[in-house]
Amino acid sequence: MVSHCCICGAEAFVQLYDKRPERYLQLEQTYHIVRCQQCDLVSVANPPAAEELPRLYDETFFSTAQQQVMSTTVIKNAKRRLALLQKYQPQGRLLDVGCGQGNFLSIANHLYQGIGVDISEYAVRHGREALGLDLRSGDFLTMDFAGTTFELITMWDFIAHVLNPCAYLEKAYDLLSPNGFLVLTTGDIGSVSARLSGKRWHLMIPPKHLHFFSTATIRQALERSGFRNIVIMWPGKYVPLEFILTKLGRMVDWVWLEKQKWPRFLPQALYVNLFDIMTVLARR
Ligand SMILES: [Zn+2]
Repeated sequence: MVSHCCICGAEAFVQLYDKRPERYLQLEQTYHIVRCQQCDLVSVANPPAAEELPRLYDETFFSTAQQQVMSTTVIKNAKRRLALLQKYQPQGRLLDVGCGQGNFLSIANHLYQGIGVDISEYAVRHGREALGLDLRSGDFLTMDFAGTTFELITMWDFIAHVLNPCAYLEKAYDLLSPNGFLVLTTGDIGSVSARLSGKRWHLMIPPKHLHFFSTATIRQALERSGFRNIVIMWPGKYVPLEFILTKLGRMVDWVWLEKQKWPRFLPQALYVNLFDIMTVLARR
């Protein structure tokens, strides 16, 4: 059980609801979702132990249409993200934390000198073989970069997955060069979509997601870690229709739907914007 809030340190929480994990994970646990009484951060009160986390990010996690190595949708989304980075920091060393199989890095690599890190050994091995990138497996918190600093650190859909987000933000701060940028994406639990769907929100997926930020709480976590000039936006993204089926299947526990293949003669992806995923930029 978590005893104190990872942003503000308060020890008083409001119970919101209990949430069962998606069935495909085959976990017996029910997760308690709580809100900090002081800063409003929503988190999982009974997260898995640190050593259990890598197991969640195996081949199954990386086999959905959303994660496939260099699919059309993956490339489209990576190019949009790259265009955003280019506006703020057009060149330099780039560290992609939670790089998965290296999809984003492979698109960004002709403009930046990129390194990727991920807790998933499967993803890193697969990404290295398929794309030939500098990817390293392990926990970012304990990794040594031999004094290298970075002009850019990216954390795409990463920060909600870790036990202690502030420790990761602080480490990113330490590794950035002066005026360097951190760019991250994460769900916005203060959004209309999240408020309307409550415990059925598509990003309420413990134990993969352990923290659920709002604009106020992500701002607070970043400021506490030393960042300034924080900018928040809500761009949409391309989502493979096959992944929408997987997601719906997992939400309603229909395994047959989760396994459906999307017919090749139909459009493969949809541009979706529920305005419930934040892209956040912060400067060291
Ligand atoms: Zn708090």
